[in-house]
Amino acid sequence: MIRIGDLAAASEHIVLTDAAAPGISGRVDIRIAGSVIADVSPAGAAAPPADATIVPLDGRVVAPAFVEPHLHLDKALLGTPLGGGDLGAAIAYTAERKRGFTSADVRARAERVLAAALRAGTTAIRAQTEVDPTVGLLSIQVMRELAERHRSWLDLQIAVFPQEGIRARAGTLPLMREALALPGTIVGGCPYTEADAVDARAHVDQVLDLAVEFGTFADLHLDLADDTSDQRFALAGYVARATRERGLEDRVAIGHVTTLAAMHPSERGRVLDELARAGVSVVVLPATDLYLMGRSDAANVRRGIAPVSDLWAHGVRTALSSNNLRNAFTPTGRADPLDIALLAGRVGFASSREDFLRLHRAVTTDAAAVVGSERARGLAAGAPADLVVFDSTDPDTVVLDQPTRLLVLAGGRPVYSARLEESFHEVPLPG
Ligand SMILES: [Zn+2]
Repeated sequence: MIRIGDLAAASEHIVLTDAAAPGISGRVDIRIAGSVIADVSPAGAAAPPADATIVPLDGRVVAPAFVEPHLHLDKALLGTPLGGGDLGAAIAYTAERKRGFTSADVRARAERVLAAALRAGTTAIRAQTEVDPTVGLLSIQVMRELAERHRSWLDLQIAVFPQEGIRARAGTLPLMREALALPGTIVGGCPYTEADAVDARAHVDQVLDLAVEFGTFADLHLDLADDTSDQRFALAGYVARATRERGLEDRVAIGHVTTLAAMHPSERGRVLDELARAGVSVVVLPATDLYLMGRSDAANVRRGIAPVSDLWAHGVRTALSSNNLRNAFTPTGRADPLDIALLAGRVGFASSREDFLRLHRAVTTDAAAVVGSERARGLAAGAPADLVVFDSTDPDTVVLDQPTRLLVLAGGRPVYSARLEESFHEVPLPG
């Protein structure tokens, strides 16, 4: 049994004993000192510090906490227009809803998502947050408040996201610059909303130039298309070259990139090699792409998911994320990265134990690498003690089992326990 009573007043030294962990054979003890993992040793090999709070796990699984490298908190839970619709309809519906945004409204919806994320075991989020003349910096300011309010358990990075374009929506660029001057922000992009291929490429250049100027990461919503016939799309190779030209290796992510699914395998192979060489990460967002792609197909509907196993085969850093939750872009979602990992496995022909372990890494350590977090080091001495204990004893099948999250630690502190049915924090849990 997890001694929950001890945890509320846990000492600086927590030791998770007799744990199973993905990628580690045999059971281990995980000793935490302050906010980091002090060491991971074979179970019973070393006596815990005298003042330690011992959490005996009886073989249950411990894994790194989840990271969502691509999540829209500002437009989450807006609902879906009657009859649904394609990408254009989703952008138009959301643009209209944005006119009514208030700080209180954005905050309330975002906090409902954060409560669900905490229960799922997520302790780091890159929040894609819209900036344009309609909403101004309202949502950015709310995200900054939330980052401060929840910093004890959440590492919230804010991507300044021009959903309606930079060149297509005059007045957006000065707002982006204003937002990028604020701490905790990185530059986002959305070249597919521009009018033509020339503007789309100029958008990519502008975003990467801002990343250089402000010394931040860049994260582009690159394309959401069924094929490569429109030259605004299929810019992945262009992004790779532009990244290397600017020395931004390992600092650029591209999301969706559904055109990768449409390319001939030989062309795709060349593009994936370029992405790998440039250290450009791909964030696959299957819940959205399955919903928005293939809308013109009456039979054999295209699925439009960037091919995860090909990305792995070419050495491209690959993560999965929820993207949108219960809005016009994605009517589904529980802010649970394990749900997304299983979905990606189902549509991507995952079959082996190694496939499912890699999918688990795509929502933990690989996702951490995308956002530049130390959590990418996983269960290693010196890595942040952001951990999840699962009600399961097989560390290879967490994605398949979708087990209950028994305990979540952030920065070495217990922040959520399923046994207590309450959070240690003031995050309001959904009713
Ligand atoms: Zn997105």
